Amino acid sequence: MELFAVPDLPEVREGDDLAALIRDRVDLRPDDVVCVASTVVSKAEGRAADLDEFPPGPRAREIAARLSDISGDEKDPRFAQAVLEESTEVIMEAPFLLTETRFGHVGVNAGIDRSNVPGHDLLLLPKRPSESAARIREGLPADRVLVTDTCGRPFRHGQRGVAVGWAGMAPARDWRGEGDRDGRELGVTVENVADELAAAANLVAGEGDDGTPVVVVRGFEWGDHGESDAHFRDVDGDLIRQAVRGWSFDA
Ligand code: GDP
Ligand code: MN
Ligand code: MN
Repeated sequence: MELFAVPDLPEVREGDDLAALIRDRVDLRPDDVVCVASTVVSKAEGRAADLDEFPPGPRAREIAARLSDISGDEKDPRFAQAVLEESTEVIMEAPFLLTETRFGHVGVNAGIDRSNVPGHDLLLLPKRPSESAARIREGLPADRVLVTDTCGRPFRHGQRGVAVGWAGMAPARDWRGEGDRDGRELGVTVENVADELAAAANLVAGEGDDGTPVVVVRGFEWGDHGESDAHFRDVDGDLIRQAVRGWSFDA
């Protein structure tokens, strides 16, 4: 398997046809997986925004005041309002805002970015990244598209790429029922291939001013394994979320 960045992509603007920008710069093959940073999907979809568009309600003011107290930095209640509007559930309010976005992804600040957004204060995640992935895929000779974001994770320092949207592939490879080297049957392993490929692509894309938001994964083979649609956990089976829901930060 090989990964390479699509060269010479311009600054992406609202209304740009990402598939056209990509296909003009690289000869894709049907079995390529094209990984697109959510940043540029959001820019193309007009998801850049300004803080003034989010007049804060009481909850946002309360959250921002508390976060300001905890951090000692003034936090903008309009930013908290933007996060609330992008979210269906606030999982943690402090010492940072952890929410579930409208499309099921759980992340700090609903994945709203404040870097790599020229001319605006904020960049919201795409509304429905899997639909974005499907639209991009329609314009490409490649069968599989992922939309990625850089995201932190519990229990570990640092961030890495995750898949927030996918098209043309199932997100996970189901190993259940297959054997290990001793003939033991695997009972639980459902491998999140979308996240694994997104992490590798994110590694190539970089985080700063590299200008390489699209990475092609060439030669990845699914193999003779089952598929699973499992990606974002449902609240019901999400024991960690349930535990965190009942917890509150006090400081
Ligand atoms: P995120 O992980 O989706 O939040 O995106 P990042 O802000 O980490 O950017 C990922 C990569 O895309 C980095 O290499 C950025 O320099 C690059 N990038 C961001 N926006 C643009 C753009 O409009 N055009 C180009 N060519 N690169 C961009
Ligand atoms: Mn991001
Ligand atoms: Mn990133």
